[in-house]
Amino acid sequence: MSDPDRGVWEGMLGYLRTQHPTVCRQWFDEIEPLGIIAGMMHLRAHSMVHKEYLRRSCGDVFREALQSVTGHLLGIRFVGPDESIGGPEEGAGMLTHRAKENGFASNGVRSKAGDLEPPDTLAINPDYDFSSFVVGPSNRYAHAAAMAVAGQPGSSYNPLFIHGDVGLGKTHLLQAVCLTIRRNNPDAVIHYLSCESFVTYFTEAIRANQMAQFRHWFRDVDVLVLDDIHFLASRERSQEEFFHTFNTLYQANKQIVLSSDAPPEEIPSLEDRVVSRFKCGLVTQVEAPDLDTRIAIVKSKALQRGLLVPDDAACHVATRVTRNIRELEGAVTKLQIAASVEGRPVDLDLAIDALGGEPRTGGSGPTIQLIAETVADFFNVRLTDLQGKRKPRSIAQPRQIGMFLARRHTRHSLEEIGGFFGGRDHTTVIHAIKTIEGKASTDAQLSALLAELEQKVAKVK
Ligand code: ADP
Ligand code: MG
Repeated sequence: MSDPDRGVWEGMLGYLRTQHPTVCRQWFDEIEPLGIIAGMMHLRAHSMVHKEYLRRSCGDVFREALQSVTGHLLGIRFVGPDESIGGPEEGAGMLTHRAKENGFASNGVRSKAGDLEPPDTLAINPDYDFSSFVVGPSNRYAHAAAMAVAGQPGSSYNPLFIHGDVGLGKTHLLQAVCLTIRRNNPDAVIHYLSCESFVTYFTEAIRANQMAQFRHWFRDVDVLVLDDIHFLASRERSQEEFFHTFNTLYQANKQIVLSSDAPPEEIPSLEDRVVSRFKCGLVTQVEAPDLDTRIAIVKSKALQRGLLVPDDAACHVATRVTRNIRELEGAVTKLQIAASVEGRPVDLDLAIDALGGEPRTGGSGPTIQLIAETVADFFNVRLTDLQGKRKPRSIAQPRQIGMFLARRHTRHSLEEIGGFFGGRDHTTVIHAIKTIEGKASTDAQLSALLAELEQKVAKVK
């Protein structure tokens, strides 16, 4: 490739980083520019999954970057690691071919006119690998089960059924299973689709009177991964067909992985026999992550985008967003945009500006002093004890609550809060917040007490 073309690629990367920072990933550095050939910038991805992701998710912004850098109306073409650049152009009518390239939906049947098109398979996001999945108490079992299935599909847990609220990592785990099996065995036929696509495909197959084709597509598969299976609720005929598909695959020792927003028995109007099929393997839950896990996720998501987030800023993000990891990722995006707009690195102040939170000083929030006094008063302990070095049991919990409230209602850093409460370091503060949060989620009395204290704190300012 000629040097000017490499310069174009470097210009594009620079453009993307400033104009579309949230699209950028660390691994863009591994994309190899092959040069501008016949009006198209050819870019080689280091795996088919990366290529497919780029094609599906980044085509428009890459083209915009290219046109902005060159000032010419050029196009973009993504190429896989082993593909020659003279290969066939992709376009309409190549669905089967494309699906095959993707490696996750190779049914091998080229659709003829009037034939049933294969269903929409889901794009695999190369970011959703096990290596980027942060393991904590909330997801340890689901993660271990997914790892086991990925290592030995068909012979560990079958089916694997992962359930949990939205945004807690089900899709991430499902895709990590797909990515790992694909890596270990490039020839494995893996169908990964949403339950909605399954239902749509089924309905179309019936309408087109092509059930044979439908069944064929599902029969020749090593691994079937269906996301959001609760979509089957109240769809009787689809349930019936799914039951047969399931049995066929199950009897042939093919791996089935399912996700849902509820455990099998709680999915409304799911037939008993389907429920018991789901339960014959392993049913496992992903729960809301604790503070440490959330902090680690913030850092991992930031790193994936090439963004450095110091501890106290990560902790601020993780205390602002507590239940949904997708929102946590959204918060990282906000940080990234703020850092890019303001042209400065991420620190606690930037995190507070970007996500809100009480001002550190001079604002309308309570001071840390007032919080400590309120807590001391409430528990009938001495302020000097709360701020002291000693650790008697009667003081430990009030002190943790003080730290917890100070974190939520002031802009002080973890270090400052630790310092105020008896010269403790930031890990003690993180531990305190985590302990109080964890206990409050199961202990109604404590959570009522916290609510009362929060009200008092809000009043005293
Ligand atoms: P679900 O399918 O349960 O609704 P997703 O798998 O789509 O949730 O997860 C939402 C977002 O949170 C994704 O960006 C995912 O990568 C991220 N995420 C969830 N759990 C984790 C984890 N343990 N480590 C890293 N990222 C996570
Ligand atoms: Mg999902």
